[in-house]
Amino acid sequence: MKYQAEFDVAIHAVRMAARVCMSVQKTLGQSAIRKEDRSPVTVADFGSQAVVCHALQEAFPHDPVIGEEDSDVLCLPENKSVLDKVTTEVAHVLPGATHESVCAWIDRGNADGYSERFWTLDPIDGTKGFLRCDQYAVALALIIEGQITVAAMACPDLPCDAQGGNEKGAVFAAHRGEGAFQAPLHDAGDAAWQPIRVRTVATGAQARLCEPFESNHGSRRDVAAVATHLGVEAASLRLDSQAKYGVLARGDADIYLRLTSRSGYIENIWDHAAGALIVEEAGGMVTDMAGRPLDFRFGAQLERNTGIVATNGLLHEAVLEALADATG
Ligand code: AMP
Ligand code: MG
Repeated sequence: MKYQAEFDVAIHAVRMAARVCMSVQKTLGQSAIRKEDRSPVTVADFGSQAVVCHALQEAFPHDPVIGEEDSDVLCLPENKSVLDKVTTEVAHVLPGATHESVCAWIDRGNADGYSERFWTLDPIDGTKGFLRCDQYAVALALIIEGQITVAAMACPDLPCDAQGGNEKGAVFAAHRGEGAFQAPLHDAGDAAWQPIRVRTVATGAQARLCEPFESNHGSRRDVAAVATHLGVEAASLRLDSQAKYGVLARGDADIYLRLTSRSGYIENIWDHAAGALIVEEAGGMVTDMAGRPLDFRFGAQLERNTGIVATNGLLHEAVLEALADATG
């Protein structure tokens, strides 16, 4: 594979970051502080970003990283105890970490403009899910000339099989042109990787939908209208984070809708890059609500896109038509 080194480093990085997230959840409970936009951020968001950016710095020191977090709020005097906790958690996986090194690693993720080759990172996608002990993901992708090329995503609370029989924890990975794969999060052996494919469901009646758990992250009314148009019978899966792309890629769901046209919300690239490649390499299709490809050439946001429509491919046209009919 052309980007084998990037693929291996990305998987290793999200696995290490997932260890930080799981440790924080076990030992610190659910304490969060608020960012300027009032959204919650935890010790784990910062710790995860520090660990992933450290790994990228070691392997690819010249690559910019567009990550969700920066250390500004963490460096406020009133958040010193939080910085202490972040440093302690990071030091479990990177011995010798200090306040200064942790903040420097976090801020390695502060690129915001487009470049020919860059990484994008959501250190905890679905922070609200993390706080509820529901789904969340560490999501990392490499973008080269506007194309998502490598993706790795750890979902510590997602069982590796749909029945939930397995131990919790799945890691997904994709390499453009080479396929999408899944392995148990806690088994780092090469033999644990399995190729994944979307389900070959061609009618709405057989399809299962998924959508955000948070009711204000997309219009539930519009999703319900599309489901009715398509004749979907199964109840929607509602879950946080890019775990939605993972369950679609492995065939637990067939359609992921994030319908934000009425809210005017503009999506962040780190919320979709990793998941989108995993779905595409599993045989699915990802566009915005107008059927346009996601355009990663405009910095931190998907400025030219509105909402997300991801499907198993077979259903894509029908979903876009139903969406136009239901909401147009
Ligand atoms: P999900 O878990 O799929 O709902 O996605 C979580 C992501 O939703 C977060 O990382 C935020 O970046 C993003 N988000 C926050 N507010 C909104 C909103 N009003 N509409 C759509 N997405 C949002
Ligand atoms: Mg996110």
